[in-house]
Amino acid sequence: MSNRTFTMIKPDATSKGYTGGILDQIVQAGFTIRAMKWTRLTAEQAGRFYAVHSERPFYGELVNFMSSGPIVAAILEKDNAVADFRQLIGATNPAQAAEGTIRKKYAASVGENAVHGSDSDENAAIEGSFFFSGLEIF
Ligand code: GDP
Repeated sequence: MSNRTFTMIKPDATSKGYTGGILDQIVQAGFTIRAMKWTRLTAEQAGRFYAVHSERPFYGELVNFMSSGPIVAAILEKDNAVADFRQLIGATNPAQAAEGTIRKKYAASVGENAVHGSDSDENAAIEGSFFFSGLEIF
């Protein structure tokens, strides 16, 4: 079990001014920030990040959305980080997300759903190194 996960605050949430509220909820839930940056993906970079979804019907929409504005990328640490963070953000579709979860509070739709959370320890490591060099992780 890894104690790290990777997250992004997505363009819908940064543009609506939810960055501070989301980061506060993450820290209040016991996660420590080990790396963080405010940046914007090109369509090519978003396409590579989500390459695993390239055959899905929503891939084009996802790439357009994720490159449409700034994001916050971060590596987070906590015991059982991947599973606990998935619980904190809630279901992919905010309509199905549990009360109090980040997606329930801040997400508008299944596509524009405020935050990303890695789905495995392996992907957390791959996604973290997509955004951060060793010099940027503490
Ligand atoms: P996650 O692990 O909860 O983020 O969900 P998935 O790995 O299934 O999907 C990755 C991302 O693709 C989601 O967070 C959404 O932003 C997007 N996505 C998933 N399903 C749909 C959909 O039906 N339509 C659109 N437009 N985007 C979707």
